[in-house]
Formats: sequence, structure tokens, C-alpha cells
Amino acid sequence: MSTTGVIRCKAAVAWEPGKPLTIEDVEVAPPKVHEVRIKIIASGVCHTDQEYLTGQFRQFAAGIVESVGPEVTKFSQGDKVIPLFLPQCGECERCLSPKTNQCRKNWANTQAGVMADGTSRISYNGQQVYQFLGVSSFSQYTVVPDTSLAKIRSDAPLNKVCLLGCGVSTGYGAAVKAAKVEERSSCAVFGLGAVGLAAIMGCQAAKACKIIGVDVNPERFEKARLFGATECVNPRDHAKTIQEVLLDMTSGGVDYALECVGSPVVMTSAFESTRDAWGTCVIVGWSESEAINIKVEKILMGRTLKGTYFGDWKSVEDVPTLVDDYMNEKLKLDEFITDQLPLEKINVAFDHMKKGKGIRTVINLWPEETTPTVETV
Ligand code: NAD
Ligand code: ZN
Repeated sequence: MSTTGVIRCKAAVAWEPGKPLTIEDVEVAPPKVHEVRIKIIASGVCHTDQEYLTGQFRQFAAGIVESVGPEVTKFSQGDKVIPLFLPQCGECERCLSPKTNQCRKNWANTQAGVMADGTSRISYNGQQVYQFLGVSSFSQYTVVPDTSLAKIRSDAPLNKVCLLGCGVSTGYGAAVKAAKVEERSSCAVFGLGAVGLAAIMGCQAAKACKIIGVDVNPERFEKARLFGATECVNPRDHAKTIQEVLLDMTSGGVDYALECVGSPVVMTSAFESTRDAWGTCVIVGWSESEAINIKVEKILMGRTLKGTYFGDWKSVEDVPTLVDDYMNEKLKLDEFITDQLPLEKINVAFDHMKKGKGIRTVINLWPEETTPTVETV
């Protein structure tokens, strides 16, 4: 039922960087102009969440519109939605350009954890709680700007499609949209977490004939093969550098390399493992302050180096299409989910990620209302 008042509910709050989250009773204020209040059903922890928890503070989720603020025209109560860390306002210079998905609407505010008016809708004992990237999905209810929300079909299972709010869309789009992987090409994907596995899925969808998965954790190889890797390599099994190994395996380099680790050293390796003349390397892994080492000669020989944010998808319009692709069995999602936990166990999810255990944990915000369809491992 929709309400115009404040909602009291449970949320996981990060009081200090590096400290475990605590479950608190928070107050979620009604949505203001161009805002939507959502009942979050399922949410997840992304690698970038870990980065932010230990430094700054990202997440994916899915829910149902509880109420809408004034001037909201595209959403109504009961709609199934996916909150987006990348908005698409549809009006700014970048939204009007087909060249980028990087809308900057409310950017500074969402990065600072507040809405367009500079305040957050979540509070604890009267004290404002900042909303993580303007989303804050580890709360049973949250409020987001109407430009940071994708409306999806009503038959989509929220505890699966929540994955499309972050890493899975990013990795898949990195291959099909950013790299534009071609049929019968050769590809190398560095890092086989959810982002890398999704990149492999994209390479396979694009009908690449050689898809090499690279990871220092061999436990990831079986899953990588399931997603379409034709071979897997552990750099630690070789005396040569990984780029030399890949050049040997492909007689001169891969057509496309996708870095899904977030390490500048691996970024250089990925770039150098591409072929002269037309090799393309896409950086997907996150790093904000570090520099990468690129030999000018490698660029001069015709290689392309580029990066992607959210897989180049225009968030509001493309996420519903990705949901359709999942529903039509063109895209795997269930295979990424290795654990499903209630909100109270959110720190276990962070712990699994730190230890490289499992791929993605989905947090069920209302365990008593839904029957888990994924087994806990
Ligand atoms: P993850 O931690 O689950 O996976 C990373 C993988 O890299 C692990 O399997 C790890 O064993 C492997 N790895 C570590 N060092 C390696 C090395 N030297 N060589 C090869 N493999 C190595 O992370 P994830 O959730 O899949 O995210 C991957 C990256 O993508 C992160 O940096 C994340 O911040 C970033 N990301 C970017 C965007 C974007 O918009 N560009 C969006 C979401 C996530
Ligand atoms: Zn815009």
C-alpha cells in the first residue's frame, strides 16, 4: 500500500569506512519532486561496494514502487523497478548524444549520497544517513531520483534481475557495446568475477571463436567455461608474462582484451596482449587514482585503448531490454548467484567477497515474504 508518511524499516548502515555494517531501524521520508520511494526486494554486493567500504563507498538491487513524488510521470505505485547508479535524464548533452551513456544529472549529489536538494531521505534517530551513490539499496525502503530508475516487466523475478543494476550489465556491455566484439574473433578476459564472467557471456553472444579466461584463482575456471570460455589460463602457471603467453596462444595477439580486475598492471598486460593493427583493449576494472603504463609504439601500431562505465548501456532505456534478454533466455543470471542471504547477514556477503568465495550474493530484504529460489552454498 502507498503511504505519504515516513516509513520506519531496517537498513544496513556503514557508520565508518572499513567497519562492518550494522542493522538499524531507520526512517525513510516520502519522495519529493521527481523522486520515487521503492520497497527494495533484493539487493546485492558488488566489488565496487567493497572498494567504497574500505575507502569511499556501489550496489545493485530491484524493488517495487511504493509511492511517487510530485511531477513524476513515468512511474506509478506497484511498478517493478531497478535503481541505477548511472542516471539517464534524457535531456542533457550527453543523453542526447549516441556516443556516451554518461549522464551527469544529479551527479555530484548522488556521489555525495544526497538527493537533488542536497539532503538524504533516510535518517536514524533524526540524524541524516547518506545514501550510497544515491541508491542505498541495503534498506527495506529507499528514495531515488526518477532519472535513476528503470521500469521493468512485471513478470521479472526481482531476486535475479537485480544483478542487472551493476556488474553483470557492465561486463556484458563491455564486450558487446564497448569493444563491439565481432564474429569469429579472439578475445581475452582478465579477471573472472561477475564482471569478467559477464564479459565472457558477451563475447560468446557476439560469436567470438576463441575466448580465453585469465585469472590467478583457478577455482573460477569451471564457471568461466560454463559462460563460454574456450580456454582458461592462470598467469602464475607460466614463467613468461601473461601477454607473452597470450601472444603465443593466438599467433600475435587477441582481437579484443577486456580488463575486469581493476589493476593497472593487469591493464598493461591486457593492452599488450592485443594484436597489432586492430587490437582493442577495454578497461572495465575500477581504479580512481592510479596510472597505467602504455608504450607509445603499441598505440602507434593501431591498437585502441578505451574504458567503459556501466558497459556503455544507456541505463534507463537499456536495462529493461537486458531484463527481456534474461526472460527470453538470451542472457544468464542465475549462474552468477552463489549465495542468498537475509539483510542481517550482509557482513557475511562482504566477507565472502573479500575471500574471493562465490560470485554474487543476493540479499533478500524481506525473507519472511518470499521463498528463496536459490540454495545457500
Ligand atoms: P571480483 O573481485 O569478483 O573479480 C575479480 C577477479 O580478478 C577475481 O576472480 C580475481 O581472482 C581476479 N584477479 C585478481 N588479480 C588478478 C591478476 N593479477 N590477473 C588475473 N586475474 C586477477 O570483482 P568483480 O565484481 O567481477 O569486479 C571486477 C572489476 O570491475 C572491479 O574493479 C569493479 O570495481 C569493476 N566494476 C566496474 C564497473 C564499471 O562501470 N566500469 C562496474 C562494476 C564493477
Ligand atoms: Zn542526462
